[in-house]
Amino acid sequence: MDYDYDLYVLGAGSGGVRASRMSAAKGARVAVAESTYLGGTCVNVGCVPKKLFVYGSHFHEEFEDAAAYGWTTRAEKFDWPTLRDNKTAEIERLNGIYRTMLTNAGVDLHEGHAVMTDAHTVSVDGQSYTAEKILIATGGWPVVPDLPGKEHAITSNEAFYIDTFPEKVVVVGGGYIAVEFAGIFAGLGADTTLVYRGPLFLRGFDDSVREFVKEEISKKGVKLRFDTNVTSITEANGRKELKLTDGSVLPADTVLYATGRSPNTGGLGLENAGVSLSDNGAVFIDEYYQTNVSHIYAIGDVTDKIQLTPVAIEEGMCIANNLFTSNPKKKLDYSNVATAVFCQPNIGTVGLTEAQSLALHEGDLDIYDSSFKPMKHTMTGRDERTMMKMIVQRSTDRVLGIHMVGPDAGEIIQGMSVAMVAGATKAQFDATVGIHPTAAEELVTLRDVARSA
Ligand code: FAD
Ligand code: NDP
Repeated sequence: MDYDYDLYVLGAGSGGVRASRMSAAKGARVAVAESTYLGGTCVNVGCVPKKLFVYGSHFHEEFEDAAAYGWTTRAEKFDWPTLRDNKTAEIERLNGIYRTMLTNAGVDLHEGHAVMTDAHTVSVDGQSYTAEKILIATGGWPVVPDLPGKEHAITSNEAFYIDTFPEKVVVVGGGYIAVEFAGIFAGLGADTTLVYRGPLFLRGFDDSVREFVKEEISKKGVKLRFDTNVTSITEANGRKELKLTDGSVLPADTVLYATGRSPNTGGLGLENAGVSLSDNGAVFIDEYYQTNVSHIYAIGDVTDKIQLTPVAIEEGMCIANNLFTSNPKKKLDYSNVATAVFCQPNIGTVGLTEAQSLALHEGDLDIYDSSFKPMKHTMTGRDERTMMKMIVQRSTDRVLGIHMVGPDAGEIIQGMSVAMVAGATKAQFDATVGIHPTAAEELVTLRDVARSA
């Protein structure tokens, strides 16, 4: 059968764009459908605008700290529309770059909502296209749990476009988005409370990191309410009120729900193509991203792997390699994927947590750690600390995990992740000469075992 395309990609986000471009570069005839925004979540309502807001929210500390270094500054006022609109202009510039990248790669872009009408046909706004292979890369969408008044809450999607900067913000959730936005709102001057249902936020991160971040972001003015959840939200005269499970009431101008994201599978016509979902609603795939229908694949947030842009991108690279070259098939190794949380100060982490290491290697672990005041703040007097932790398997000397909280932790841990992927031993870290004076040098000068476990 003669198809219109060799590959039809649903969704021009992080994974879909990379898979489209790389497949076209290998000679495939490729089309991609995009319903909302080129570049997907990361570019439009994710990593990029978030990081710009994080930069924006840190300036007030820079102004304060400058005084100790002899600068007289006048940080008179923060203007939200300037930050919001400059961010939007930058996002629009990036949208244009994505459009050019796809065009230059020879990929046909179909702007509209795509639906699979059968296992080889995609319909975009009434126009049908056939393809030999189909890639589902439709990402995810924020989930707000059912509760009375949920319509008064916003999600991260809307947080990037708020009309008036709020005086009082309540952020609900304890994952990446909750802690990042709590830091953004507090840094920009809002009275910010984070409400989390469990005893300590950032579940899944190393416990030392979680405790440390609790201390640090409290110092920055974020009020933390753990072991609490919201039972209802009401609104009167533009002000909201949240009732909490402990019986207390919180006023707010903005309520941001950051309670996770679910895979974007609705309205895609997956049933017409016979594509199965896992129990958790994600598209079911094997280790090479193949669904139960052998010519249909899925990558990125619509699957149940790690929800990070570089992961979706690498999966897109694997797809192009596996479908359009005769090279050996590739799949991603998810074990040493480094990640950063852009709370303030940042978290950077790679490898196993101490709890995960204990589960695998109890009795064979040496833990190294360090906590110190960043050099910059020895002059400013700011009460901010940095922490680092390294987990080593004693019998092999292999470094199993590195965890950091501090300025630029993401930048530092990216380098460390190369060593981890290469299987570095503690002896190799010790044999590495530091760069002085940096915070990162601490990771090659951790000499004393803090404890064995
Ligand atoms: P997406 O980028 O979401 O792309 C999917 C695309 O498919 C979208 O453009 C969507 O419009 C389109 N689409 C959906 N359905 C259809 C349809 N039926 N027809 C046509 N098009 C359709 N990750 C990081 O690594 N670092 C970060 O700092 C980071 N920060 C984040 C901050 C926030 C607030 C959020 C929400 C996420 C963040 N992420 C971050 C996660 C990251 O954005 C995602 O993991 C990544 O975008 C997933 O890429 P994807 O290609 O799977 O999906
Ligand atoms: P996460 O899954 O990270 O966190 C969701 C949070 O919401 C958890 O604390 C969870 O609690 C809580 N929660 C879930 N359901 C409820 C509920 N019904 N009531 C109250 N609380 C609830 O999701 P996010 O939305 O923060 O982010 C989605 C993903 O996007 C992240 O996992 C990450 O992969 C990616 N991302 C990456 C970033 C980065 O790389 N810097 C930044 C932002 C997002 P509990 O822990 O108890 O389950």
